[in-house]
Amino acid sequence: MKHRPPFALRARLLSPLADGGLLDAADGLLEIGADGRLTRVEPWPGDAETPASVRDIRPLVLMPGMVDLHAHLPQLPNAGLGSGLDLLTWLDRYIFPLERAYDREVAERQAPAAWRAFAAAGTTTVVAYAAIWPDSTDAAFEAAEAHGIRAVIGKVMMDRLSYDTDIDPGEILETSLRQSDELASRWHGRDDGRLLYAFTPRFAVSSSAEMLKESASLAARHGAYWQTHLSEDGGEMAEVGRLFPEARDYLDCYERAGGLGSRTILAHAIHLSADEVQRLVASGSGVAHCPASNLFLSSGMMRLSTYRAAGMKVGLGSDVAAGPDVSIFGAMRAGSVTQRALELTGATPRDGELRPIDWLRAGSLDGARVLGLDDRIGSLEVGKEADIIAVDPRFTTPLPGDDPPAEADDLASRLVFRSHPNMVRAAWVRGRVLAGPPGLDSIE
Ligand SMILES: [Zn+2]
Repeated sequence: MKHRPPFALRARLLSPLADGGLLDAADGLLEIGADGRLTRVEPWPGDAETPASVRDIRPLVLMPGMVDLHAHLPQLPNAGLGSGLDLLTWLDRYIFPLERAYDREVAERQAPAAWRAFAAAGTTTVVAYAAIWPDSTDAAFEAAEAHGIRAVIGKVMMDRLSYDTDIDPGEILETSLRQSDELASRWHGRDDGRLLYAFTPRFAVSSSAEMLKESASLAARHGAYWQTHLSEDGGEMAEVGRLFPEARDYLDCYERAGGLGSRTILAHAIHLSADEVQRLVASGSGVAHCPASNLFLSSGMMRLSTYRAAGMKVGLGSDVAAGPDVSIFGAMRAGSVTQRALELTGATPRDGELRPIDWLRAGSLDGARVLGLDDRIGSLEVGKEADIIAVDPRFTTPLPGDDPPAEADDLASRLVFRSHPNMVRAAWVRGRVLAGPPGLDSIE
């Protein structure tokens, strides 16, 4: 397999489009220029007009790489453990011990494997929380830089309930701000914007009003992202109410800190009032919807159709390790099941919104939009950077040897409801192949 552009592939093409439409070419041509951008995306033009060297990978499907808006790097080793615990108990039992141990040495060992696992699942952009330690955050960035994946990473900030028991409590805030500032200076925008920084106060339970405010102002100064958790779980919400008696609701804790805006990513946001929905949308902030996690921890079910109707920017997150696996296709399936369950309870009308093809869009172009990167990635369109994946739909058929569906809706349905851990055969960022998937030479 060629590891660098330019190259051209003949395959089935399936992609959401910026204008709201869909690209579905049963036999198509994708050409990637030397600069890693898509130069041709079109139905197969016939042999006369094809590039000199083109590799035919049919029946594989070329799609945009998936965008994971919410993941926790140190937590991966405990993925799949603790189903049904409430959030705060689960954090204490399964998560904080792992994060505390995530020092540079652990990160150097685990982060490269984590990036390969994301790529193998078809994810080419990951928005991740590291631990509170700056040196292991550095190691995670270094691993992403070497691997080639597109990544937004932040050192977790906590000045309450911190698992750093050695530091003088009076110094936590200033230390965490300084470390985050240094990391952003070092990494935000690296490799022409492939690596980006997110200031990362964990959530209002563990971050004081001052930490929220100061981190938001640092993020604005760097032009970096600001990410945190919002309204995930009942126990958490009660605790936020106790800690922030002056705030009118959970969102207000972030609003009054100046944290909301177009470079803000809020994870979960399940239990919002109508007023919070409206203010969140007006702020331009985006939401990382993590349905697999929300079911795993019994956190709740997002009324996604209501949010979308209000104009909210929503993409998908795996939220490993509260989400049991790194696959965004898995998140799509959990999300779809969640919406069906809401219909069954009568909480939302049975309107058939969000077909499988819409879930593919949520996992790719909508996620890019939350990041403000939809002009660069998220779909197969000429001029965009070639962050793409090759999927073998034969892995999704119920019986071996069956042909994959001809219709785009049916193909999308199989990818969402019968996603297979081996179906992603290759992944590229800017046309550079990522380690993780087996590679095109493994195709039979
Ligand atoms: Zn999370």
